[in-house]
This record gives sequence, C-alpha cells and structure tokens, in this order.
Amino acid sequence: TKPSYKWRRVLLKVSGEALSGDQAQNIDPKVTMAIAREVASVTRLGIEVAIVVGGGNIFRGASWAGCSGLERSSADYIGMLATVMNAIFLQATMESIGIPTRVQTAFRMSEVAEPYIRRRAVRHLEKGRVVIFAAGTGNPFFTTDTAAALRCAESESKYSLSLKSTMVFVRNMEDHLNSGISVNAEVVLKATNVDGVYDQDPKKNPEARLLDTLSYQDVTAKDLSVMDMTAITLCQENNIPVVVFNLSKPGNISKAIMGERVGTLIGG
Ligand code: UDP
Repeated sequence: TKPSYKWRRVLLKVSGEALSGDQAQNIDPKVTMAIAREVASVTRLGIEVAIVVGGGNIFRGASWAGCSGLERSSADYIGMLATVMNAIFLQATMESIGIPTRVQTAFRMSEVAEPYIRRRAVRHLEKGRVVIFAAGTGNPFFTTDTAAALRCAESESKYSLSLKSTMVFVRNMEDHLNSGISVNAEVVLKATNVDGVYDQDPKKNPEARLLDTLSYQDVTAKDLSVMDMTAITLCQENNIPVVVFNLSKPGNISKAIMGERVGTLIGG
C-alpha cells in the first residue's frame, strides 16, 4: 500500500525568534520540545529531516553593526555563532527524546560539531538521523533564510517548507521512486504567527483577506516581507515555491510535510 505522505526528505528552517516563544529567556524549552516532537512524528514515518536554525533570538548582526565601532562582518560572525548555540540546544532536545541528531556548521568548530559536508549530510539523512545546519551560509551579510534556500537547492530537495521560524525542504517521494530523476522543483514552507499571506495587515485591518496563491513578483513588488530578498530570489531562480503557514498551530509542520494544503502558496 502507498504511504499517505508525499515527501521523503524535508528541510525545516527554524528562526531564532520562534525558539524564544513568549519567554524572556533566549530559548523556550517548551518550543524546542514541541519542534522535536513534531520532527519525531515525521521521522517515525520514514521522512528524512534536515534543519536550518537561525540566531535572531540571541544576536542579529545588522542591529549591532556600528555599535562601539563593531564592523558589520564581525557582528555577523557573532550572529552566526548564535545559530550554533541554538543548534546545540535543539540537538540536545532532540536527542533527549531519542532522535539521533548531528550538527554541521558552515565554518569549522570541530570540537563542537561536524563541518558542513553535503554528501555526509545526505548520508546521515539516509540513515534516519536529523541534521541541523548551523552558522548560516558561513558568510557575513547573509541570513539563515538564504542558508535554508541554498541548502535546499544544493540537496536537490524537491520542496522546501519554510516556517516563520521555519523552512522545510522536501523531496517528492513518488517522483523519487518512480523516475529517480531529480526535477529540482522545490517549495519553501514558511510558518508565521498568522495563517498565511494577507492582502493587508490583518492586525490593522479585520477585513484583510488570506491569499491562496501569489507570484514571486507579488512578494518582491509589494514588499510582503515573507523572507529577505536574497532568499526569495534564490527560490525564484531555482523554482522553489514558498508556502507560508501558521507554525503555532500544533500539527501544522507535519501537515505541510504530508502535502496537506495549508497557508499561502507563492510561485507554485
Ligand atoms: N548570519 C550571517 N550569515 C548567514 C546567516 C546568518 O552573517 O549566512 C548572521 C547575521 O548577523 C544574522 C544572524 O547571523 O543576523 C542570525 O541569523 P538570522 O537573522 O538569519 O536568524 P533568524 O532571523 O532566523 O533568527
């Protein structure tokens, strides 16, 4: 019998902001545990999960640059180190509920984590381990959304799901099994605190309408701040559709991965 889910491999982007929940602390252990549980429920079905983690809950380079003579590059390296802290926290949480997890960093920190090696990451995934990509792209002036789009394109994932918090890249299982040809069509599912993209700000206008579909041009021209320009451009150039959906609704990550219709589809 056919499995009911569509995807075989996903890449989930978890922003730092999502990790802090409503805590005054940088990280809310309830949030990391909730993510770990959702990921566990999906890995149990045999879906492979990679994660790109952000660092905005601890340090954002752009907001600190210029302060006390701090150069943008130095500030961004501090930001990238922040993502490593989150990655290790998330790894520890995952492993506490029995999910084997590896952290790979975009620059070397070999006493702490593996360096990013694409083939090795793929091998871990094939063995059913979760791989967390930390330190973004390893380059100042970029974001972890861009890192997620990049890792997605690199890993030949067919879809990427980005949550607010989060970006998940998935590969179409049937295509994989039937043709074995990587089509490189990809989707970013991005979870926010709202149900998707609205035609107006729903907090300011109760008449705001939830949009089912949008083009990439709509996003850039209307500056809908779904993700930064580099990340959305990378998705557009690689035909990675983006789905924006609500992360705070329990079960939404697994629904999105299973191909159920949630949120707003961009460039699909
Ligand atoms: N960063 C960077 N290069 C990257 C990814 C991240 O320099 O490829 C730095 C940047 O300073 C950024 C910080 O790391 O502000 C945290 O990442 P991001 O803001 O993307 O985290 P999120 O918004 O997902 O929490």
